[in-house]
Amino acid sequence: MRFLDMWNPFTFVGFDIASKRQIEETVRELYNSKPHVAATLGFALAGLSAAMSGAMWNGIAATLVVLTCLLFRLGMEQFLITRSMGELVQKWIRLFVFGSLLSGFGWGLSGALLLYGTSAQTQALTMAIACAIMHGAAGRAYMMPGTALINITFIIGQMSIAAYLGGNYIYIPAFFLYFAFLASFILQMVSNRLCQLHAEQTADRLYQEITEKNELLRIANETLATKAHEDPLTGLANRRKFDLVIAERLAEASQKWSAISLMIIDVDHFKLFNDTYGHQSGDECLQHLTRAISATISTPGSLVARYGGEEFVVILPGQDGAEARVTAENTRIAVRFTSLDMLPNTPPRQTISIGLVSCEAGSLMTRDAMLTAADAALYEAKKQGRNRVCVYSDMSQEQPQSPPAGVQL
Ligand code: GH3
Ligand code: MG
Ligand code: MG
Repeated sequence: MRFLDMWNPFTFVGFDIASKRQIEETVRELYNSKPHVAATLGFALAGLSAAMSGAMWNGIAATLVVLTCLLFRLGMEQFLITRSMGELVQKWIRLFVFGSLLSGFGWGLSGALLLYGTSAQTQALTMAIACAIMHGAAGRAYMMPGTALINITFIIGQMSIAAYLGGNYIYIPAFFLYFAFLASFILQMVSNRLCQLHAEQTADRLYQEITEKNELLRIANETLATKAHEDPLTGLANRRKFDLVIAERLAEASQKWSAISLMIIDVDHFKLFNDTYGHQSGDECLQHLTRAISATISTPGSLVARYGGEEFVVILPGQDGAEARVTAENTRIAVRFTSLDMLPNTPPRQTISIGLVSCEAGSLMTRDAMLTAADAALYEAKKQGRNRVCVYSDMSQEQPQSPPAGVQL
Protein backbone atom coordinates (compact mmCIF):
# COMPACT_ATOMS: atom_id res chain seq x y z
CA MET A 1 0.00 0.00 0.00
CA ARG A 2 1.27 3.46 -0.87
CA PHE A 3 2.11 5.96 1.89
CA LEU A 4 -0.66 8.38 0.92
CA ASP A 5 -3.30 5.62 0.82
CA MET A 6 -2.29 4.76 4.34
CA TRP A 7 -3.40 8.21 5.40
CA ASN A 8 -6.59 8.33 3.40
CA PRO A 9 -9.37 7.88 5.99
CA PHE A 10 -11.58 6.25 3.34
CA THR A 11 -9.07 3.53 2.42
CA PHE A 12 -10.81 0.22 2.99
CA VAL A 13 -8.28 -2.60 2.71
CA GLY A 14 -9.15 -5.06 -0.06
CA PHE A 15 -12.42 -3.35 -1.05
CA ASP A 16 -11.76 -4.32 -4.68
CA ILE A 17 -10.92 -7.97 -4.01
CA ALA A 18 -13.02 -8.86 -0.97
CA SER A 19 -16.42 -10.44 -1.47
CA LYS A 20 -19.59 -8.55 -0.54
CA ARG A 21 -19.97 -10.83 2.47
CA GLN A 22 -16.42 -10.12 3.65
CA ILE A 23 -16.92 -6.34 3.27
CA GLU A 24 -20.19 -6.41 5.19
CA GLU A 25 -18.60 -8.46 7.98
CA THR A 26 -15.75 -5.96 8.20
CA VAL A 27 -18.11 -2.97 8.33
CA ARG A 28 -20.08 -4.63 11.16
CA GLU A 29 -16.83 -5.23 13.03
CA LEU A 30 -15.85 -1.57 12.57
CA TYR A 31 -19.17 -0.43 14.04
CA ASN A 32 -18.74 -2.64 17.10
CA SER A 33 -18.58 -0.24 20.05
CA LYS A 34 -17.29 -2.61 22.74
CA PRO A 35 -13.70 -1.20 22.53
CA HIS A 36 -15.19 2.29 23.04
CA VAL A 37 -16.90 1.23 26.25
CA ALA A 38 -13.54 -0.02 27.60
CA ALA A 39 -11.74 3.16 26.48
CA THR A 40 -14.42 5.40 28.05
CA LEU A 41 -14.22 3.53 31.35
CA GLY A 42 -10.43 3.95 31.31
CA PHE A 43 -10.57 7.70 30.75
CA ALA A 44 -13.41 8.06 33.26
CA LEU A 45 -11.10 6.40 35.80
CA ALA A 46 -8.31 8.82 34.95
CA GLY A 47 -10.93 11.63 35.20
CA LEU A 48 -11.80 10.44 38.70
CA SER A 49 -8.11 10.38 39.61
CA ALA A 50 -7.75 13.98 38.31
CA ALA A 51 -10.81 15.13 40.29
CA MET A 52 -9.56 13.47 43.44
CA SER A 53 -6.10 15.00 43.12
CA GLY A 54 -7.39 18.56 42.77
CA ALA A 55 -7.97 19.02 39.03
CA MET A 56 -11.75 18.71 39.37
CA TRP A 57 -12.77 20.52 36.17
CA ASN A 58 -10.20 18.69 34.06
CA GLY A 59 -11.59 15.37 35.33
CA ILE A 60 -15.24 16.32 34.75
CA ALA A 61 -14.60 17.80 31.30
CA ALA A 62 -12.48 14.82 30.15
CA THR A 63 -15.11 12.34 31.34
CA LEU A 64 -17.95 14.27 29.69
CA VAL A 65 -16.07 14.38 26.39
CA VAL A 66 -15.42 10.61 26.27
CA LEU A 67 -19.00 9.87 27.43
CA THR A 68 -20.37 11.99 24.59
CA CYS A 69 -18.13 10.12 22.13
CA LEU A 70 -19.31 6.78 23.52
CA LEU A 71 -22.99 7.75 23.24
CA PHE A 72 -22.42 8.78 19.67
CA ARG A 73 -20.70 5.47 18.81
CA LEU A 74 -23.41 3.44 20.54
CA GLY A 75 -26.00 5.34 18.51
CA MET A 76 -24.09 4.58 15.30
CA GLU A 77 -23.93 0.88 16.10
CA GLN A 78 -27.63 0.78 16.93
CA PHE A 79 -28.40 2.61 13.69
CA LEU A 80 -26.58 -0.11 11.72
CA ILE A 81 -28.23 -2.95 13.63
CA THR A 82 -31.74 -1.62 12.98
CA ARG A 83 -31.13 -1.00 9.28
CA SER A 84 -29.98 -3.39 6.59
CA MET A 85 -26.72 -2.52 4.90
CA GLY A 86 -28.05 -3.49 1.46
CA GLU A 87 -26.28 -1.91 -1.48
CA LEU A 88 -25.23 1.15 0.53
CA VAL A 89 -22.00 -0.23 1.95
CA GLN A 90 -20.01 2.80 0.87
CA LYS A 91 -22.40 5.15 2.67
CA TRP A 92 -21.97 3.14 5.86
CA ILE A 93 -18.20 3.35 5.43
CA ARG A 94 -18.38 7.14 5.05
CA LEU A 95 -20.53 7.40 8.17
CA PHE A 96 -18.02 5.25 10.02
CA VAL A 97 -15.13 7.53 9.00
CA PHE A 98 -17.03 10.58 10.23
CA GLY A 99 -17.95 8.94 13.57
CA SER A 100 -14.51 7.45 14.05
CA LEU A 101 -12.65 10.73 13.49
CA LEU A 102 -15.03 12.49 15.84
CA SER A 103 -14.35 9.99 18.62
CA GLY A 104 -10.60 10.13 17.86
CA PHE A 105 -10.74 13.87 18.34
CA GLY A 106 -12.74 13.39 21.55
CA TRP A 107 -10.24 10.93 22.96
CA GLY A 108 -7.36 13.25 22.10
CA LEU A 109 -9.13 16.18 23.79
CA SER A 110 -9.92 14.08 26.82
CA GLY A 111 -6.32 12.83 27.03
CA ALA A 112 -5.04 16.41 26.74
CA LEU A 113 -7.37 17.60 29.52
CA LEU A 114 -6.15 14.80 31.75
CA LEU A 115 -2.49 15.54 31.02
CA TYR A 116 -2.53 19.28 31.40
CA GLY A 117 -2.09 20.58 34.93
CA THR A 118 -2.94 17.34 36.66
CA SER A 119 -1.01 15.33 39.24
CA ALA A 120 1.90 13.10 38.20
CA GLN A 121 -0.21 10.09 39.22
CA THR A 122 -3.10 11.13 36.95
CA GLN A 123 -0.68 11.85 34.12
CA ALA A 124 0.87 8.37 34.41
CA LEU A 125 -2.59 6.78 34.46
CA THR A 126 -3.67 8.89 31.49
CA MET A 127 -0.59 7.90 29.52
CA ALA A 128 -1.15 4.22 30.23
CA ILE A 129 -4.82 4.41 29.20
CA ALA A 130 -4.09 6.51 26.10
CA CYS A 131 -1.48 3.98 24.99
CA ALA A 132 -3.96 1.16 25.51
CA ILE A 133 -6.57 3.01 23.45
CA MET A 134 -4.11 3.74 20.64
CA HIS A 135 -2.92 0.16 20.67
CA GLY A 136 -6.52 -1.00 20.44
CA ALA A 137 -7.12 1.34 17.49
CA ALA A 138 -3.96 0.08 15.78
CA GLY A 139 -5.04 -3.52 16.34
CA ARG A 140 -8.20 -2.87 14.29
CA ALA A 141 -6.41 -0.76 11.71
CA TYR A 142 -5.96 -3.62 9.21
CA MET A 143 -9.47 -2.82 7.95
CA MET A 144 -9.28 0.99 7.63
CA PRO A 145 -5.71 2.08 8.39
CA GLY A 146 -6.32 5.72 7.39
CA THR A 147 -8.96 6.42 10.04
CA ALA A 148 -6.87 4.64 12.68
CA LEU A 149 -3.73 6.62 11.83
CA ILE A 150 -5.57 9.96 11.85
CA ASN A 151 -7.19 9.05 15.17
CA ILE A 152 -3.82 8.15 16.66
CA THR A 153 -2.43 11.42 15.30
CA PHE A 154 -5.31 13.33 16.94
CA ILE A 155 -4.64 11.69 20.28
CA ILE A 156 -0.88 12.01 20.17
CA GLY A 157 -1.07 15.52 18.71
CA GLN A 158 -3.43 16.92 21.34
CA MET A 159 -1.65 15.16 24.17
CA SER A 160 1.71 16.44 22.86
CA ILE A 161 0.35 20.00 22.90
CA ALA A 162 -0.90 19.49 26.45
CA ALA A 163 2.47 18.04 27.45
CA TYR A 164 4.25 20.98 25.85
CA LEU A 165 2.00 23.53 27.50
CA GLY A 166 2.42 21.74 30.82
CA GLY A 167 6.20 21.72 30.45
CA ASN A 168 6.42 17.89 30.28
CA TYR A 169 8.74 17.96 27.28
CA ILE A 170 10.00 14.44 27.79
CA TYR A 171 6.58 13.09 26.75
CA ILE A 172 6.93 14.51 23.23
CA PRO A 173 9.80 12.32 21.89
CA ALA A 174 8.19 9.34 23.62
CA PHE A 175 4.95 10.09 21.71
CA PHE A 176 6.86 10.27 18.43
CA LEU A 177 8.57 6.97 19.04
CA TYR A 178 5.29 5.38 19.95
CA PHE A 179 3.66 6.80 16.85
CA ALA A 180 6.44 5.38 14.62
CA PHE A 181 6.04 1.99 16.27
CA LEU A 182 2.25 2.01 15.75
CA ALA A 183 2.56 3.13 12.12
CA SER A 184 4.91 0.26 11.23
CA PHE A 185 2.68 -2.14 13.14
CA ILE A 186 -0.34 -0.97 11.11
CA LEU A 187 1.62 -1.31 7.85
CA GLN A 188 2.45 -4.92 8.70
CA MET A 189 -1.16 -5.67 9.60
CA VAL A 190 -2.42 -4.18 6.35
CA SER A 191 -0.04 -6.30 4.32
CA ASN A 192 -1.11 -9.41 6.29
CA ARG A 193 -4.75 -8.56 5.68
CA LEU A 194 -4.14 -8.17 1.94
CA CYS A 195 -2.37 -11.55 1.85
CA GLN A 196 -5.29 -13.13 3.67
CA LEU A 197 -7.86 -11.61 1.29
CA HIS A 198 -5.84 -12.73 -1.75
CA ALA A 199 -5.55 -16.24 -0.34
CA GLU A 200 -9.30 -16.38 0.38
CA GLN A 201 -10.04 -15.09 -3.09
CA THR A 202 -7.81 -17.74 -4.67
CA ALA A 203 -9.38 -20.44 -2.53
CA ASP A 204 -12.88 -19.27 -3.56
CA ARG A 205 -11.90 -19.27 -7.23
CA LEU A 206 -10.31 -22.71 -7.01
CA TYR A 207 -13.34 -24.06 -5.19
CA GLN A 208 -15.61 -22.68 -7.91
CA GLU A 209 -13.39 -24.15 -10.63
CA ILE A 210 -13.41 -27.55 -8.93
CA THR A 211 -17.19 -27.43 -8.60
CA GLU A 212 -17.55 -26.58 -12.29
CA LYS A 213 -15.09 -29.28 -13.34
CA ASN A 214 -16.87 -31.82 -11.15
CA GLU A 215 -20.17 -30.95 -12.81
CA LEU A 216 -18.60 -31.38 -16.27
CA LEU A 217 -17.10 -34.69 -15.13
CA ARG A 218 -20.47 -35.83 -13.83
CA ILE A 219 -22.16 -34.99 -17.15
CA ALA A 220 -19.35 -36.72 -19.08
CA ASN A 221 -19.68 -39.80 -16.87
CA GLU A 222 -23.42 -39.85 -17.36
CA THR A 223 -23.01 -39.57 -21.13
CA LEU A 224 -20.36 -42.27 -21.09
CA ALA A 225 -22.58 -44.57 -19.03
CA THR A 226 -25.47 -44.01 -21.46
CA LYS A 227 -23.24 -44.59 -24.47
CA ALA A 228 -21.78 -47.72 -22.91
CA HIS A 229 -25.28 -49.16 -22.84
CA GLU A 230 -26.45 -47.97 -26.23
CA ASP A 231 -26.20 -49.48 -29.69
CA PRO A 232 -24.80 -46.73 -31.93
CA LEU A 233 -26.62 -47.76 -35.13
CA THR A 234 -30.16 -48.13 -33.81
CA GLY A 235 -30.00 -46.16 -30.57
CA LEU A 236 -31.50 -49.18 -28.81
CA ALA A 237 -30.11 -50.69 -25.63
CA ASN A 238 -27.18 -52.97 -26.31
CA ARG A 239 -26.48 -56.47 -25.06
CA ARG A 240 -24.72 -55.19 -21.93
CA LYS A 241 -27.80 -53.22 -20.96
CA PHE A 242 -30.01 -56.18 -21.75
CA ASP A 243 -27.99 -58.35 -19.34
CA LEU A 244 -28.49 -55.82 -16.56
CA VAL A 245 -32.20 -55.30 -17.20
CA ILE A 246 -33.15 -58.97 -17.59
CA ALA A 247 -31.55 -59.71 -14.21
CA GLU A 248 -33.54 -56.87 -12.63
CA ARG A 249 -36.83 -57.86 -14.25
CA LEU A 250 -36.45 -61.52 -13.28
CA ALA A 251 -35.79 -60.49 -9.68
CA GLU A 252 -38.86 -58.23 -9.74
CA ALA A 253 -41.01 -60.98 -11.27
CA SER A 254 -39.88 -63.32 -8.51
CA GLN A 255 -40.63 -60.72 -5.82
CA LYS A 256 -43.99 -59.66 -7.21
CA TRP A 257 -44.98 -63.19 -8.21
CA SER A 258 -45.69 -62.03 -11.75
CA ALA A 259 -45.25 -63.40 -15.28
CA ILE A 260 -42.49 -62.41 -17.68
CA SER A 261 -41.88 -63.10 -21.38
CA LEU A 262 -38.93 -62.80 -23.71
CA MET A 263 -38.80 -62.60 -27.49
CA ILE A 264 -35.87 -63.00 -29.84
CA ILE A 265 -36.46 -61.33 -33.19
CA ASP A 266 -34.41 -62.08 -36.29
CA VAL A 267 -34.75 -60.33 -39.64
CA ASP A 268 -35.45 -62.86 -42.38
CA HIS A 269 -32.99 -63.30 -45.22
CA PHE A 270 -31.12 -60.19 -44.27
CA LYS A 271 -27.92 -61.33 -45.89
CA LEU A 272 -29.81 -61.34 -49.18
CA PHE A 273 -31.03 -57.80 -48.47
CA ASN A 274 -27.44 -56.64 -47.91
CA ASP A 275 -26.19 -58.42 -50.97
CA THR A 276 -28.96 -56.90 -53.11
CA TYR A 277 -29.25 -53.35 -51.80
CA GLY A 278 -25.87 -52.79 -50.19
CA HIS A 279 -24.68 -52.58 -46.61
CA GLN A 280 -25.60 -48.91 -46.26
CA SER A 281 -29.22 -49.60 -47.18
CA GLY A 282 -29.04 -52.60 -44.85
CA ASP A 283 -28.11 -50.28 -41.98
CA GLU A 284 -30.94 -47.89 -42.78
CA CYS A 285 -33.33 -50.78 -43.12
CA LEU A 286 -32.34 -51.95 -39.62
CA GLN A 287 -33.07 -48.45 -38.29
CA HIS A 288 -36.56 -48.44 -39.84
CA LEU A 289 -37.34 -51.93 -38.56
CA THR A 290 -36.08 -50.94 -35.11
CA ARG A 291 -38.54 -48.06 -34.96
CA ALA A 292 -41.39 -50.29 -36.07
CA ILE A 293 -40.52 -52.90 -33.42
CA SER A 294 -40.15 -50.34 -30.62
CA ALA A 295 -43.51 -48.76 -31.49
CA THR A 296 -45.32 -51.98 -30.66
CA ILE A 297 -43.72 -52.45 -27.24
CA SER A 298 -45.32 -50.39 -24.51
CA THR A 299 -45.45 -52.69 -21.47
CA PRO A 300 -44.13 -50.87 -18.38
CA GLY A 301 -40.59 -51.98 -17.65
CA SER A 302 -40.17 -53.51 -21.10
CA LEU A 303 -36.89 -53.27 -23.01
CA VAL A 304 -36.02 -53.63 -26.69
CA ALA A 305 -32.31 -54.34 -27.20
CA ARG A 306 -30.11 -55.13 -30.15
CA TYR A 307 -28.70 -58.53 -29.37
CA GLY A 308 -26.27 -58.56 -32.29
CA GLY A 309 -26.33 -58.25 -36.10
CA GLU A 310 -29.97 -58.35 -37.24
CA GLU A 311 -31.21 -59.90 -34.01
CA PHE A 312 -33.18 -58.16 -31.27
CA VAL A 313 -34.42 -59.20 -27.85
CA VAL A 314 -37.51 -57.86 -26.10
CA ILE A 315 -38.24 -58.24 -22.38
CA LEU A 316 -41.95 -58.14 -21.56
CA PRO A 317 -42.37 -57.97 -17.78
CA GLY A 318 -45.82 -58.86 -16.49
CA GLN A 319 -46.94 -60.47 -19.76
CA ASP A 320 -47.97 -64.10 -19.65
CA GLY A 321 -47.98 -66.44 -22.64
CA ALA A 322 -51.26 -65.22 -24.13
CA GLU A 323 -50.47 -61.50 -23.76
CA ALA A 324 -46.94 -61.92 -25.08
CA ARG A 325 -48.21 -63.84 -28.05
CA VAL A 326 -50.45 -60.90 -28.99
CA THR A 327 -47.56 -58.48 -28.56
CA ALA A 328 -45.27 -60.64 -30.70
CA GLU A 329 -47.84 -60.89 -33.48
CA ASN A 330 -48.33 -57.12 -33.41
CA THR A 331 -44.57 -56.65 -33.71
CA ARG A 332 -44.32 -59.10 -36.59
CA ILE A 333 -47.19 -57.39 -38.44
CA ALA A 334 -45.80 -53.91 -37.78
CA VAL A 335 -42.52 -54.90 -39.44
CA ARG A 336 -44.33 -56.60 -42.27
CA PHE A 337 -46.06 -53.32 -43.09
CA THR A 338 -43.03 -51.09 -42.69
CA SER A 339 -42.38 -49.41 -46.00
CA LEU A 340 -38.78 -49.13 -47.17
CA ASP A 341 -39.68 -47.10 -50.26
CA MET A 342 -37.51 -44.22 -49.09
CA LEU A 343 -34.34 -46.32 -49.52
CA PRO A 344 -32.49 -46.43 -52.85
CA ASN A 345 -33.99 -48.90 -55.33
CA THR A 346 -37.11 -49.10 -53.11
CA PRO A 347 -36.52 -52.46 -51.45
CA PRO A 348 -39.56 -54.56 -50.65
CA ARG A 349 -40.98 -54.77 -47.12
CA GLN A 350 -39.12 -57.17 -44.88
CA THR A 351 -40.23 -59.84 -42.49
CA ILE A 352 -39.05 -61.04 -39.13
CA SER A 353 -39.24 -64.32 -37.26
CA ILE A 354 -39.88 -64.33 -33.54
CA GLY A 355 -39.06 -66.92 -30.90
CA LEU A 356 -41.07 -66.40 -27.74
CA VAL A 357 -40.81 -67.82 -24.25
CA SER A 358 -43.11 -66.98 -21.35
CA CYS A 359 -42.84 -67.77 -17.67
CA GLU A 360 -46.07 -67.75 -15.73
CA ALA A 361 -46.12 -66.28 -12.23
CA GLY A 362 -44.36 -68.56 -9.83
CA SER A 363 -42.53 -70.66 -12.42
CA LEU A 364 -39.66 -68.49 -13.48
CA MET A 365 -36.71 -69.64 -15.58
CA THR A 366 -33.17 -68.37 -15.43
CA ARG A 367 -31.95 -65.79 -17.92
CA ASP A 368 -29.91 -68.40 -19.80
CA ALA A 369 -32.78 -70.87 -19.88
CA MET A 370 -35.12 -68.20 -21.26
CA LEU A 371 -32.63 -67.21 -23.96
CA THR A 372 -32.05 -70.84 -24.95
CA ALA A 373 -35.78 -71.48 -25.09
CA ALA A 374 -36.52 -68.34 -27.12
CA ASP A 375 -33.67 -69.21 -29.46
CA ALA A 376 -35.06 -72.71 -29.95
CA ALA A 377 -38.47 -71.21 -30.74
CA LEU A 378 -36.83 -68.80 -33.20
CA TYR A 379 -35.07 -71.70 -34.87
CA GLU A 380 -38.44 -73.40 -35.20
CA ALA A 381 -39.97 -70.24 -36.72
CA LYS A 382 -37.21 -70.14 -39.31
CA LYS A 383 -37.64 -73.83 -40.00
CA GLN A 384 -41.36 -73.44 -40.52
CA GLY A 385 -40.84 -70.84 -43.21
CA ARG A 386 -40.04 -67.51 -41.39
CA ASN A 387 -42.32 -64.47 -40.91
CA ARG A 388 -43.99 -66.07 -37.92
CA VAL A 389 -44.02 -66.29 -34.15
CA CYS A 390 -43.14 -69.56 -32.48
CA VAL A 391 -43.69 -70.09 -28.77
CA TYR A 392 -41.53 -72.27 -26.61
CA SER A 393 -44.51 -73.96 -25.11
CA ASP A 394 -43.64 -74.69 -21.50
CA MET A 395 -41.02 -76.02 -19.11
CA SER A 396 -41.72 -79.67 -19.99
CA GLN A 397 -39.24 -79.44 -22.87
CA GLU A 398 -41.87 -80.16 -25.51
CA GLN A 399 -41.08 -79.15 -29.04
CA PRO A 400 -41.84 -75.50 -29.64
CA GLN A 401 -45.35 -74.93 -30.91
CA SER A 402 -46.02 -74.12 -34.52
CA PRO A 403 -47.92 -70.94 -35.22
CA PRO A 404 -51.63 -71.40 -35.77
CA ALA A 405 -52.46 -72.57 -39.22
CA GLY A 406 -53.68 -69.86 -41.55
CA VAL A 407 -52.56 -67.36 -44.05
CA GLN A 408 -49.37 -65.55 -43.02
CA LEU A 409 -49.52 -61.85 -43.69
P1 GH3 B 1 -32.16 -65.84 -41.79
O1 GH3 B 1 -33.50 -65.58 -42.34
O2 GH3 B 1 -31.88 -67.30 -41.67
O3 GH3 B 1 -31.88 -65.13 -40.55
O4 GH3 B 1 -31.17 -65.32 -42.91
P2 GH3 B 1 -30.17 -64.15 -42.75
O5 GH3 B 1 -29.60 -63.87 -44.09
O6 GH3 B 1 -30.83 -63.01 -42.11
O7 GH3 B 1 -29.13 -64.71 -41.77
P3 GH3 B 1 -27.58 -64.70 -41.78
O8 GH3 B 1 -27.13 -65.00 -40.38
O9 GH3 B 1 -27.06 -65.62 -42.86
O10 GH3 B 1 -27.17 -63.26 -42.18
C1 GH3 B 1 -27.28 -62.19 -41.30
C2 GH3 B 1 -26.86 -60.99 -42.05
O11 GH3 B 1 -27.13 -59.83 -41.34
C3 GH3 B 1 -25.40 -61.01 -42.37
C4 GH3 B 1 -24.94 -59.61 -42.18
O12 GH3 B 1 -24.47 -59.07 -43.39
C5 GH3 B 1 -26.20 -58.87 -41.80
N1 GH3 B 1 -25.91 -57.91 -40.80
C6 GH3 B 1 -25.62 -58.17 -39.50
N2 GH3 B 1 -25.40 -57.01 -38.86
C7 GH3 B 1 -25.55 -56.01 -39.75
C8 GH3 B 1 -25.44 -54.60 -39.70
O13 GH3 B 1 -25.16 -53.99 -38.66
N3 GH3 B 1 -25.67 -53.90 -40.83
C9 GH3 B 1 -25.99 -54.51 -42.00
N4 GH3 B 1 -26.23 -53.78 -43.06
N5 GH3 B 1 -26.08 -55.83 -42.09
C10 GH3 B 1 -25.87 -56.59 -40.99
MG1 MG C 1 -29.40 -63.84 -37.40
MG1 MG D 1 -31.65 -63.22 -40.19
